Amino acid sequence: MFDPVEIPTSDLVDVLAAVCDIESVSGDEEALADAVEALLRGQPHLEVTRDGDAVVARTLLGRDRRVVLAGHLDTVPLTDPPNLPTRLEGTGDDRVLWGRGTVDMKAGIAVMLALAVELGRPGSEPVVDLTYVFYDHEEVEASKSGLGRLARNHPELLAGDFAVLGEPTAADIEGGCQGTIRVDVRTRGVAAHSARSWRGENAIHAAAPILARLAAYEAAEVGVDGLVYREGMNAVGIRGGIAGNVVPDACTVTVNYRFAPSRTLAEAEAHLRELFDGYEVTVTDSSPAARPGLDDPLAAEFAAAVLALTGGVPKPKFGWTDVARFAELGIPAVNFAPGDPSLAHADDERVPVRELAMCRDALRTWLRGQ
Ligand SMILES: [Zn+2]
Repeated sequence: MFDPVEIPTSDLVDVLAAVCDIESVSGDEEALADAVEALLRGQPHLEVTRDGDAVVARTLLGRDRRVVLAGHLDTVPLTDPPNLPTRLEGTGDDRVLWGRGTVDMKAGIAVMLALAVELGRPGSEPVVDLTYVFYDHEEVEASKSGLGRLARNHPELLAGDFAVLGEPTAADIEGGCQGTIRVDVRTRGVAAHSARSWRGENAIHAAAPILARLAAYEAAEVGVDGLVYREGMNAVGIRGGIAGNVVPDACTVTVNYRFAPSRTLAEAEAHLRELFDGYEVTVTDSSPAARPGLDDPLAAEFAAAVLALTGGVPKPKFGWTDVARFAELGIPAVNFAPGDPSLAHADDERVPVRELAMCRDALRTWLRGQ
């Protein structure tokens, strides 16, 4: 056993650099979870639970409302050469921290940790009870999700009236999220030696109409609760052929559909089955969309506090995020955190220090009711 790395809490930039420099590519979150757990267990105002590489910390102040702040600890793999350790460039308010995870989503994790340490100390009590959820395995198949596991093992720990997920939004509020569904569309043929190809049926050639339907597909723009979501329908993979002299008897086109919260998962699947009518369609991965939920009273108070500080307007979230899991649990949720979402997973991930402080201050103002 090693002692966990200590996360410094004196300065928000130091917190972020520390949590980024503890590598936590999906499946390898243990060291970071240990460090987060050690920091939170050191706070007398928090009750801490560990489940695998997820850590949940809660205040128990007896407030009538509870807000959940949640974020994943894992990142996508490092680049080659590695984009860690982090490096800080610039001076003063114009400083920028570079490195894997600075955007997706350790900037959000750093803000959550800073608030977890501060809110609940004597003289810094929040007006609501708070639950901080740090979890593993977000950047991989939905079936591995640490948040999904927590929902199965400890649903009572996720209870709350409103949730803020620290996925990057560049300090804007992004409501809801698009759903995602991945399917394999298969063609079958008859294998033959390519020297006598008339005896076979080529399954790759048979996939041409699938590609034609995708190329002709016009993705919709859909308005939901005042926000406009832009959908996407794309082939993301194709497999077929076993050797250079064999007519292939099977071909699989993998298609990913990103859909607006106007559709349920079942409706999205039906849409795909209709689009690929006549083919064998198998769903391999799926996650539902979530409506923006900005009509909730706690969400409205949150939006007012954030907008007073940042001046931004709520936007739709295009990627899938775990707000959809909170929606399934009946908890309205939004995304809000530092970092340009278009830099998530990019080789040159970087976050302006200014946004870190802005997000922490907005959340603190709201949670302290000031
Ligand atoms: Zn993320």
